[in-house]
Amino acid sequence: MMPYRIPYGRQSINQADIDAVMEVLTSPWLTQGPTIERFEKALADHCQASYAVAICNATAALHIACLAAGLGPGDRLWTSPNTFVASANCGRYCGAEVDFVDIDPGTLNLDAKLLADKLAAAEVAGKLPKVVVAVAFAGQSCDMRAISQLSVRYGFTLIEDAAHGVGASYLGRPVGCGQYAAMTIFSFHPVKIITSAEGGMVLTNRADLAERLRRLRSHGITGDPAQMNLPATGLWYYQQLELGFNYRMTDLHAALGLSQLARLDAFVARRRQLATRYDVLLADVAVNLPTIQPGAESAWHLYVVRLQLDRITLSQTQIFDALRAAGLGVNLHYIPVHLQPYYQALGFKEGDFPEAERYFSEALSLPLYPDLTDEQQVEVVEILRQVLG
Ligand SMILES: *Cc1c(COP(=O)(O)O)cnc(C)c1O
Repeated sequence: MMPYRIPYGRQSINQADIDAVMEVLTSPWLTQGPTIERFEKALADHCQASYAVAICNATAALHIACLAAGLGPGDRLWTSPNTFVASANCGRYCGAEVDFVDIDPGTLNLDAKLLADKLAAAEVAGKLPKVVVAVAFAGQSCDMRAISQLSVRYGFTLIEDAAHGVGASYLGRPVGCGQYAAMTIFSFHPVKIITSAEGGMVLTNRADLAERLRRLRSHGITGDPAQMNLPATGLWYYQQLELGFNYRMTDLHAALGLSQLARLDAFVARRRQLATRYDVLLADVAVNLPTIQPGAESAWHLYVVRLQLDRITLSQTQIFDALRAAGLGVNLHYIPVHLQPYYQALGFKEGDFPEAERYFSEALSLPLYPDLTDEQQVEVVEILRQVLG
């Protein structure tokens, strides 16, 4: 694969990150060692949460978060159509039905008013969801206060997919603090805010959920006699209480994640600075700029503009082709999940979620990552200006 000269996202690895991984590599523990707990504790502290459970990736984290919420066959999970497929697939892994709630055209997040309407109708029909996955698109929190009020009223578990959102804040507190969501999921894939190569984390304030997540990530096994159903017979004894998985993070990955966590504030500050610069540089370009709701501080995983296609002669595809030919790894977040062939085969079709579909037909993610230089950013805008004419 040839990397683009300027990709849309890229990790930033320094010598301290490399040293941290090398140190673990020559230690007694490559996995199931102490670095995982250190990473968990450091992230929980950073986010003001009681518990953090490290998982091998955020997709697996979403899966066991749904299981911990009790999701199973016959249940329903609702999420935003404007997300990566993992936010919906986690429901399918549990055998649940998946449905979507259209987005707010401003924040591009699941629209809390539409959610309220859909819940009222579902209550009448006896088809309420057990889980709602609220996705902090591009790193901006959803209207979590309103959605959490709905979770109390209608009795669903609110899971926050903040794969884009580590380092963001909402109403003065860090995303992941657990004030509104029962569980918050972060991803440490290299394009996200901090990386552990592959990796994810679930944050929660509930001891019961943390304990269940720890068990599910490790085969459903416990070594804690207090949790055992049969009498324990020795110190070496363990019992499998339920069907779990090997969803553990390794100490090598945790070492990289922990080292990157020390750089999180600097990463987010640089992303915010670049986003503010884009706002200025793009003022006279035929695009609509991202909007942030009052009270939210985005982690700026993505800088997404909407093309003003009525002012541009080229189509969206032609614009993408031209930008990529010029060496810019622009991207499109996201193809609405309900339009994926897998979900269309389940009965979804074009027109089901018109705001997400309209947004998709105009969207363009511009390069944004901490090591993007001011000069490169100016070049991105100049190329875009030429292409749009
Ligand atoms: C990246 C991403 C995931 C999955 O993260 P992995 O760590 O790659 O499994 C889930 N949800 C959203 C919104 C994402 O962007």
